[in-house]
Amino acid sequence: MTTLNKTGTAVITGASTGIGAIYAERLARRGYDLLLVARSADKLDALATKLARETGRAVATVTADLSKADEVRALEQRLRNDASITLLVNNAGVGATASLIDSSADDLDHMLQLNVLSLTRLTHAVAPGMVARGNGAIINISSIAAVAPELLNGTYGGSKAYVLALTQSLHHELKDKGIRVQAVLPGAIATPFWDRAGVPISHLPAAIVMTPDNLVDAALAGFDQGEVITVPSLPDIADWNRLETARLALGPNLSHTKPAARYQVA
Ligand code: NAP
Repeated sequence: MTTLNKTGTAVITGASTGIGAIYAERLARRGYDLLLVARSADKLDALATKLARETGRAVATVTADLSKADEVRALEQRLRNDASITLLVNNAGVGATASLIDSSADDLDHMLQLNVLSLTRLTHAVAPGMVARGNGAIINISSIAAVAPELLNGTYGGSKAYVLALTQSLHHELKDKGIRVQAVLPGAIATPFWDRAGVPISHLPAAIVMTPDNLVDAALAGFDQGEVITVPSLPDIADWNRLETARLALGPNLSHTKPAARYQVA
C-alpha cells in the first residue's frame, strides 16, 4: 500500500474499459482519490475494489449514461458540490466508422450528446470551483480525427475537433487562474472502441496501433511537461508547432470590413 500524500480527487469518465481504466490506475498510483464514471457498474466496481486495495486511495463509482441529459445533470450536481476535485478527465466517448449518409441520425445524435454535450456540461460543472480554489486541471480526450476529419465518421471527427477547440479556448480562459487544461489526440489505440465503432482493431495495420498503457503514459508525460495539446504518436513536435503558428498567423486577417479581392464584390 502506498503512502503518497493526497492530491485530491480525479474524476474520470468512461473509466470502465480502455483508456479511462488506465488513467484510473495511473492516477491512483500518483496519489489521487478517484471518482469513476461509466454505465457498466460491474466493471467500475471491480476496478474500484482492485485500485483501492492496491493503492490505498479512496475510489468511488457513479453509474451513469452520459448520453442522457438527466443523468449528466445529476453528475454535474455532484461535481459542483465536491471541493476535493482537482482533476477531471473527460474521456467517455464513442466513435463510428461509417460515413454520415450510411449512419443513423439517432446514432450521430447519441455520439454528440456523449462526446460533446456531456463533456461540456461536466467541464462547466467543475471549472468554477477550480477557479475559486485556484487549483485544478482538466484533461480532454480528443483524437487525431480532430485534425484529420477525412478519417472515420465525420461527426466523430467533428466532435473531437470541438474537444480540441474547447481545450484551446479553455487554456486561453483559465491559464492565469491556476487551472491546467490539456487535449490528448490519440491515434489508433487497442481498446474496445473499435469493435463498438464497427471495425475490429485486427483490421488495422499493427504499425499504427498503440496500447492504451503507452498512450496514457505518454499523455501524462505531456501533461507533466506542461503541454496543452499532446499528440502521443507524433515524432516531431515541431510539426504541430508549425500548424499552430500558421493558424495563429491567420488571426489579423480573419475579419475585415471588405470581402477579399478575389471575390470581386464591389
Ligand atoms: P472504450 O474502451 O470503448 O471506452 C469508452 C468508455 O466510455 C468506456 O468506459 C464506456 O463505458 C464509456 N462510455 C461509453 N458510452 C458511454 C455513455 N453513454 N455514458 C457513460 N460512459 C460511456 O474506448 P477508448 O478507446 O478507451 O475511448 C476513450 C476515449 O478515447 C473516447 O473519447 C474515444 O473517442 C477516444 N479515442 C479513442 C481512440 C482509439 O483508437 N481507441 C483514438 C482516439 C480517441 P460503458 O460502456 O461502461 O459505459
